[in-house]
Amino acid sequence: MAYVIIVGAGLSGAVIARQLAEAGVSSHVIEARAHVAGNCHTARDPGTGVMVHAYGPHIFHTGDADVWAYVNRFADFVPYRHRVLTTVGDAVFAMPIHLSTINQFFGTDMSEAGAEAFIAAKADKSITDPQNFEEQALAMIGPELYEAFFKGYTMKQWGCDPRALPASILKRLPLRFTDDDSYFNHPHQGLPRHGYTAMVAAMLDHPAITVTLNTPYNAALHKGDHVFYSGPLDGYFDHRLGRLGYRTLDFETFTAAGDFQGIPVMNYGDASVPYTRITEHKHFAPWEEHAGTVCTREFSRLCGNDDIPYYPIRLVEEKALLSEYVALAAATPGVTFVGRLATYRYIDMDVCIREALDLAAGFLNRGTAPVFSAAPL
Ligand code: UDP
Repeated sequence: MAYVIIVGAGLSGAVIARQLAEAGVSSHVIEARAHVAGNCHTARDPGTGVMVHAYGPHIFHTGDADVWAYVNRFADFVPYRHRVLTTVGDAVFAMPIHLSTINQFFGTDMSEAGAEAFIAAKADKSITDPQNFEEQALAMIGPELYEAFFKGYTMKQWGCDPRALPASILKRLPLRFTDDDSYFNHPHQGLPRHGYTAMVAAMLDHPAITVTLNTPYNAALHKGDHVFYSGPLDGYFDHRLGRLGYRTLDFETFTAAGDFQGIPVMNYGDASVPYTRITEHKHFAPWEEHAGTVCTREFSRLCGNDDIPYYPIRLVEEKALLSEYVALAAATPGVTFVGRLATYRYIDMDVCIREALDLAAGFLNRGTAPVFSAAPL
């Protein structure tokens, strides 16, 4: 029976470990940090008792019924509809862009059909195959809404001209002409009652799984029949070909009495405001009551050598280096690269879980696993 090494106790690693364990395959999960759950780690602030999303807001949303059923095995999910406001200039608007955003921004009182025709007239029809973030925005919504809601925020978040970014980033956000102000389209949305860390700990709580925290992976020491690696792709190879670009985040957390902003997330669209958003954590648990509040200002910058990577940047010109690492990975037998950092893709929690489930099923059936949970290119 195989013995497997799993690097990283985030969602990808925990799901693979669990699936293998339930089929009788033992694994050793090696985690560099002092906690499980990767970047969806949650912990209660000792002063206020508020559950804090330690590495930025994570809202579980999916269209995948199997994934939804899976996470509900390990946590009690409370239904939740995510809503986001954004401050632009002196005004506050609802995101994503929908009927009320459009009417407020243009000072109009259009119907759904009227707004759709109005935005269609603003959209740049000469762009038929958008090649980057800016072209995608101009083709979808025209220059005014792009400049106000996306350009400044995106430059802060990604540290580059939106013309250097893939169009796919913008496609994460819905555009609607109805009054629905929900941030996501997915039918299943919720937050785990006791936080994500408790959920991931429950996944890892199995006699066939050993978890070691505070331990960087060392290929010479940690040996198994197969390795599932969920750290940064270039980090596995000691960055020997150069560094892939990731964004890291700096958090400025403050506490106060009462309520700071009345909503979980306020974005700041203006480039002149140095942070991208403020999260007020207690609004992710509306079923709890707290006298105090914990808020976090989020600042994005290029990930340095000792920083925690959050977002793969995937600049258009990074593709060449990425393909070299993909070739290196393909020439590394016995290792499978999984999840957001190792496949260098901007994927959500539900996608990580889906890919981890499929990978584990394939491994159990065939005794082997592909180089990547999904192709990075
Ligand atoms: N975005 C923006 N303005 C906003 C919200 C999002 O320009 O008010 C852009 C920005 O480039 C961001 C991307 O849309 O990185 C995806 O936003 P999402 O809310 O999905 O980001 P996440 O929560 O994953 O950081």
